[in-house]
Amino acid sequence: MPESSHEYPLIACHDCDLVYQETALPPGGEARCQRCGALLYRDTTGCIQRSLAYCSAALLVFILVNAFPILELETQGIRRNATLYGTALTLYHENMAPVAALVALTTLLVPALELAAICYLLLFLNLKRRPPGFADLMRLIQLMRPWGMVEVFLIGVLVSLVKLAHMAHVLPGLGLWSFGVLILLMAASAGSFDAHEIWRQYEKCPNS
Ligand SMILES: [Zn+2]
Repeated sequence: MPESSHEYPLIACHDCDLVYQETALPPGGEARCQRCGALLYRDTTGCIQRSLAYCSAALLVFILVNAFPILELETQGIRRNATLYGTALTLYHENMAPVAALVALTTLLVPALELAAICYLLLFLNLKRRPPGFADLMRLIQLMRPWGMVEVFLIGVLVSLVKLAHMAHVLPGLGLWSFGVLILLMAASAGSFDAHEIWRQYEKCPNS
């Protein structure tokens, strides 16, 4: 590691517990443990702005996913649309309330809350201000993360689409394409979301 400085905190390797003093990295650089080779930390320049861009784009696409039908089904001259919200509602009316609740929770409520919470926190940090309720929201985001399952739902829709194609004329709707884009954006958002850097930026913001 390069020479130490009092400005940077101490950090322990996650894998072997060897202690280092953090230091500035070149753009795109990463620090690895000299003893075991594990990744210690990466250069996080522009991390907040990048994460905010992905997350706000994902939030906009999430609105599109919900505003347009996922599938359009035509059988015996009758045409029906299925939206994400409509899917949960139909399951509920078909006496499958627990499944309806699970679909609503994992594909609507949790992703919407998670994206909105991340956008809110990053927006404040980008303006160099401390977001009210920061710690609680950070905990909530970590808590919600395993419950967001839009990709599982998309796989289910694709399987249904292939199976239904033999029985009816099935057309993928704008919602389905938006779904694909949403998953890519959510993956990019999760990849650029660095909780360690977000806490550090929060501590740098003035107390007001
Ligand atoms: Zn190590």
